[in-house]
Amino acid sequence: MPPQPKRKLSKARRDRRRAHDSLPAIHLIACPKCDALRQPHRLCPECGTYRGETYIETQAEKK
Ligand SMILES: [Zn+2]
Repeated sequence: MPPQPKRKLSKARRDRRRAHDSLPAIHLIACPKCDALRQPHRLCPECGTYRGETYIETQAEKK
C-alpha cells in the first residue's frame, strides 16, 4: 500500500486550507484610444494598440 495520511482531514480544515485558493478578479482599465476595457500592460483586444502603436489588425480598426 502506498503511503497514506494517518487520518481524514475535517471539512473545516480542508476549507480553511482552500480559503486562499480563489483567483483575484482580473483588473481592467479603459483603453485610451477606444475606451474598451483591457488589462494593464496588454494591447487592446478591440483596436490592437498599445502605447499608441498598432500591433495587430482588428475588425474595429479596418472600419
Ligand atoms: Zn482600444
